[in-house]
Amino acid sequence: MKRSKDSILQTSLHNFELTAKRLNLDEPIRQKLAEPREKIEININPTLPTGKVVNVKTFVVRHNDALGPAKGGVRMTQDVTLDDITGLAMEMTWKTSLIGVPFGGGKSGIRFDPASSSPGAKEVIIRSFTRGAIRHIGPEIYIPAPDMGTNEADMGHIRDCISYSEGTSITKGCFVTGKPVILGGILGRRQATGKGVVYTILAMCEKLGTDISKMRVAIQGFGNVGSAAAAELAKRQAKVLAIADLSGTIANPDGLDIEALLQHSQATGGVKGFKKATQLDKDSIFETDCDILIPAAAGSQITAENAEKINAGVIAEGANAPTTPQADEILNKRDILVIPDILCNAGGVFVSYLEYTQETQREQMTLDKVEQRLSKRMTQRFNEVYDFAAEKGITMREAAMDTAVSKVVEAVFTRGLLP
Ligand code: GLU
Repeated sequence: MKRSKDSILQTSLHNFELTAKRLNLDEPIRQKLAEPREKIEININPTLPTGKVVNVKTFVVRHNDALGPAKGGVRMTQDVTLDDITGLAMEMTWKTSLIGVPFGGGKSGIRFDPASSSPGAKEVIIRSFTRGAIRHIGPEIYIPAPDMGTNEADMGHIRDCISYSEGTSITKGCFVTGKPVILGGILGRRQATGKGVVYTILAMCEKLGTDISKMRVAIQGFGNVGSAAAAELAKRQAKVLAIADLSGTIANPDGLDIEALLQHSQATGGVKGFKKATQLDKDSIFETDCDILIPAAAGSQITAENAEKINAGVIAEGANAPTTPQADEILNKRDILVIPDILCNAGGVFVSYLEYTQETQREQMTLDKVEQRLSKRMTQRFNEVYDFAAEKGITMREAAMDTAVSKVVEAVFTRGLLP
């Protein structure tokens, strides 16, 4: 996966500016929403278990908290920037607003390659980040969660680090979501984003009068989102024809055996070399002849260079900001239906909200209940955005952004802080 010259921040700002124009936002509120409320760089210098001292840049951004405390994941990659985190925090503001949970938008970042370290070293870095960022984290301030490069074990360490600093067994309220279930996490959170992607696809099939079992799908990314989406699609008899990850691209015209692929990927660290598939060129995933393409990896992957070659009728954005503005224009001209990221991948933060309420109320929610609520919310929101787009003759991205930004604007004015 290439790092594109188009940045996540440029894409987020571009989509926001177009929305501000459509909504005719006044200058003070436009400016307020174009900038994050707070962005912080924290440098940490932990000693790893090997004795080596590393200097690591970390970032916390709170974009907006009109609707509630900032919510968003911790991204850990070798090249994450403060700009990326700023763009992603803005995306979270629109995502939480659209999916209808009482949160604002935030994000944090740790510039470190998790694949290059041992689990012990990663834990040290996560704990060091938590200590450095502790005054910016809290149930009423910013609540982290997993994102690219981090997982539930890391969220468990964040929670432990905070409760340890208080000298208590648990935290006072929910400081972090996506935790291991044994530490107060919620059942189904790990699969929630991927399943949510599939629930929007199901709702789309319903609208288009087709059945999910007839869908042929290609997926970029076989991490938390891509693998859960693939498993859910296979369960519903859709054919997953091709999957790409950092190791390579594999394809099978009869549909990949996802269960066997999950085992292969866990054992070898990637999809490459999977026996029951053809090995393809890394970047060929976007050219797969299919009905639905799911980008579920990094940002800025669908660009002006490859958008013309896409051979799918629908793009379901499992990743955050996978499509650059130029590519978006090409896709629209080509009448490719894009289910936008702030809708398509909102299942993760929706279930994070359920975890937040569960912890606050010291409740325990069953997996059935979590899945029922997730499916209902994703379907409802998909239908609202789809119908609004059809009624106004605009794209689903425009409809989703108009809905999300309007709600945040309303909250800002209802608070009475501006102008
Ligand atoms: N990292 C996920 C996202 O980008 C989930 C965020 C959360 O649960 O707070 O939506």
